[in-house]
Amino acid sequence: MITALYIVMLGPPGAGKGTQAKKLAQELGLVHVSTGDLFRENLVNETELGKLAQTFMNKGELVPDDVTVRMVEERLSRPDCEKGAVLDGFPRTPAQAKALDDLLQSMGSAVKVVPYVKVPDDILVERLSGRWMSQSGRVYHEKYNPPIVKWIDDIDGSQLYQRDDDKPETVCHRIVVYNDQTAPLIAYFREKGILVEIDGTQSIDDVFEDIKVAVEEAS
Ligand code: ADP
Ligand code: AMP
Repeated sequence: MITALYIVMLGPPGAGKGTQAKKLAQELGLVHVSTGDLFRENLVNETELGKLAQTFMNKGELVPDDVTVRMVEERLSRPDCEKGAVLDGFPRTPAQAKALDDLLQSMGSAVKVVPYVKVPDDILVERLSGRWMSQSGRVYHEKYNPPIVKWIDDIDGSQLYQRDDDKPETVCHRIVVYNDQTAPLIAYFREKGILVEIDGTQSIDDVFEDIKVAVEEAS
């Protein structure tokens, strides 16, 4: 039997979870499952889920656990997740962490390693306020990871945009929400012995090297 590999990227908003999750998923041949991206896709497609999620996302609040967990269960049950997944932005509350444990257990699996990308608050604000996104979810930074042509996606030439929730007032609230609701997961995963602290203030490439070592040592 092939054991599936599930990796959870943990860290505050703007730490670089999405950037690293994409690279890691590509390196390992796994699917990148970002709950934020899934909600944004639903929003663009104007689904009921998207409309509901938007009311929370615009305020920098978390979408309710039951809705989020159902969406993740559906996503992880698809055939492309058979070998595992790099989870990004999920779990974000103790209830979501428990739901993920139960789900993976029912599939005869478990989270293997949790790279916890640590970045101080002042750097988070700078990263989020300079973040530029493509419609297909590619992530740039005006200063640290700029596209070749300003505001244009390198790959498909489409216009980049700034997320509504990356505006300064929402950013600060999202960091508060993270400290309040998500930070308890650091202890949760540490107690399970699967948390690895990563210095997220390094360059994108150096952070990636540290994450690869963490995953190799866990596998
Ligand atoms: P998260 O998914 O944790 O919210 P992102 O991966 O979207 O974070 O990164 C937030 C912003 O910071 C993006 O604009 C990204 O290009 C930039 N970024 C990511 N990692 C680094 C890094 N190590 N150094 C500088 N900027 C980074
Ligand atoms: P992200 O792209 O990870 O920064 O997420 C953007 C927004 O989507 C968050 O601020 C939340 O409103 C919502 N969201 C993403 N993931 C979750 C989650 N696991 N639980 C609840 N809300 C989430």
